[in-house]
Amino acid sequence: MLSSPLPNEFPYAFTINQHELLDARQVTTTHKDQRPDPRDISLLVIHNISLPPNQFDMPYIEDFFAGKLDPKAHPYFQVIHEMRVSAHCVIKRDGELIQFVPFDERAWHAGLSSFQGRQRCNDYAIGVELEGADHIPYTNQQYTALLKLSQILMHTYPKITLGRIVGHNDIAPGRKTDPGVAFDWQRFRQGLGLL
Ligand SMILES: [Zn+2]
Repeated sequence: MLSSPLPNEFPYAFTINQHELLDARQVTTTHKDQRPDPRDISLLVIHNISLPPNQFDMPYIEDFFAGKLDPKAHPYFQVIHEMRVSAHCVIKRDGELIQFVPFDERAWHAGLSSFQGRQRCNDYAIGVELEGADHIPYTNQQYTALLKLSQILMHTYPKITLGRIVGHNDIAPGRKTDPGVAFDWQRFRQGLGLL
């Protein structure tokens, strides 16, 4: 061995400054508010979304979270365009990261939810949406981006431990199914240990 692997020297491939990910494209939204306690960021929730459902590489997720979804662009959008929801970050199919809400503010992704008996997960969670669908495999680029993001989030907000990274289905069982059977939790957890 001539040298140690790069990750030992540069363990965090992403950078967070003032609760913003420098590696993400920043998009503003009004779909956010203040956390009750910004010091209590202690859960990471993984979701999926695709707009229209099961179609990828469209601009509509961005429009939706920014409150600018055109109801005339697709019949489904007439149903959802007035919903006021968001997530902290979206990871597109090609691995591109978009951030909508600074991590110390509250994004509106979890809805009615509970983790280990504590309700209103949005108060203390960071929400990350993978562009995808429950039964369609995620891309390698998405796993790579999610691992890097999770790593820097766990470093920056150390109350987010491995046991406190969950799927939306875990905190809203019976109501939500994402990120779905397509999400390979074993691959993700192994990746976190190896990075
Ligand atoms: Zn979700």
